[in-house]
Amino acid sequence: MDLDDLQLGPERRAMVETVRRFVQREVRPSVRALEHADAYPTALVERMRELGLFGMGVPVEYGGLGLDTQAYALVFEELSRGWMSLAGVLGTHGILCHLLARFGTESQRSEWLPRLASGELRGGLALTEPEGGSDVAALRTTARRDGDAYVLDGAKQFITNTHEGSVFAVVARTGGAGAGGLSAFVVVKTPERAATLIEGAPLKKLGYKGLKTSSLTFDGCRVPEGCLIGGEEGRGFAQVMSGLELGRINVAARAVGVARAALEDSLAYAKERVTFGKPIIEHQAIGHKLADMATEIAAARHLYLAAAAKRDRGERCDLEAAMAKLFASTMCTRATLEGIQIHGGYGYTDAYDVERYYRDAPLFTVGEGTNEILRTVIARALARRDP
Ligand SMILES: Cc1cc2nc3c(=O)[nH]c(=O)nc-3n(C[C@H](O)[C@H](O)[C@H](O)COP(=O)(O)OP(=O)(O)OC[C@H]3O[C@@H](n4cnc5c(N)ncnc54)[C@H](O)[C@@H]3O)c2cc1C
Repeated sequence: MDLDDLQLGPERRAMVETVRRFVQREVRPSVRALEHADAYPTALVERMRELGLFGMGVPVEYGGLGLDTQAYALVFEELSRGWMSLAGVLGTHGILCHLLARFGTESQRSEWLPRLASGELRGGLALTEPEGGSDVAALRTTARRDGDAYVLDGAKQFITNTHEGSVFAVVARTGGAGAGGLSAFVVVKTPERAATLIEGAPLKKLGYKGLKTSSLTFDGCRVPEGCLIGGEEGRGFAQVMSGLELGRINVAARAVGVARAALEDSLAYAKERVTFGKPIIEHQAIGHKLADMATEIAAARHLYLAAAAKRDRGERCDLEAAMAKLFASTMCTRATLEGIQIHGGYGYTDAYDVERYYRDAPLFTVGEGTNEILRTVIARALARRDP
């Protein structure tokens, strides 16, 4: 990607370039060992903290970098080009920061955002439940008012950053059935809550290695009333849907980053690998695969940047974010498979990184709203429009 084409201001451009250098110099040399050991990237996360990445979306007055959505998404693309798992450390953390920055009370903002921005606290989102993630309005975890506190009971599933994270946005039912009965809470992992806020064993995953994803069970977990985001019950569904608009732009950017890694590695390999007396890039069948990959990556980037620009103008972007994620994630599954094909037999082994890209790609079609659900979101948004 040529940053000159993007008309970034000097500060945003410097941030994207800094992360690009970090990926090139520090992530790419260490990623294969971390991936295959399924090891949490402690040293890289510490560097991300030093670079201020935990506070990317946090307003400057609360200690963050205050990046707009376009720059935020471009950073996610760069990180994912190095290793998608690094983006996973920051993805749901960013949604928690967004929920507090946009919907939190002033005391919630000043209590949590500076510590989230510095990376002292690392966040996650606890939305999905064992009975289903797509039907958010049907979720069953309850938050019962008890004096000046709420008591949470229920189970969450597939929660990323449970083990290394320390604070979660938890969506629970405070009222009746349906979306209007949901509220969002900030819940901190503390030693006192260890018996009532229980992390399950890490799930064994196809990809997204290094990060722990597990269940999170609430068994009479007591939190102060001040943990209710915005201080008003029944707002949780709208708040989390707003967070998912950001999440979907972020996932689209991650998909572009992984597809770009597949393209760049495949291009280098296709120039080196010689068959029938010439580099394979000169065989039209291989050249055309690379051409399709490059074209679709550019198209996907335009889609996520357009969605981000709309969000930066303060407009609703559920349609654009859904389109960007739908297209970019589907494109990424195609591009990573082509990456393996271009590498021939070696692509099917761990001698090259393309096998990792291929294993990471399917998460993009499932996480933050499956592509089936996104098609429904897009169709509904189209139905709202004038012809
Ligand atoms: C590695 C990983 C990390 C994750 N991290 C987090 C996290 O940090 N926090 C969090 O809250 N969640 C997280 N998730 C959960 C993820 O968001 C859910 O898996 C996803 O939303 C789908 O929910 P589900 O798995 O329950 O599938 P289901 O909702 O059971 O859906 C199963 C299938 O049916 C389809 N389907 C369901 N309803 C419809 C419909 N109405 N029309 C058409 N098709 C439909 C779905 O598209 C899907 O193909 C993570 C998941 C994974 C795999």
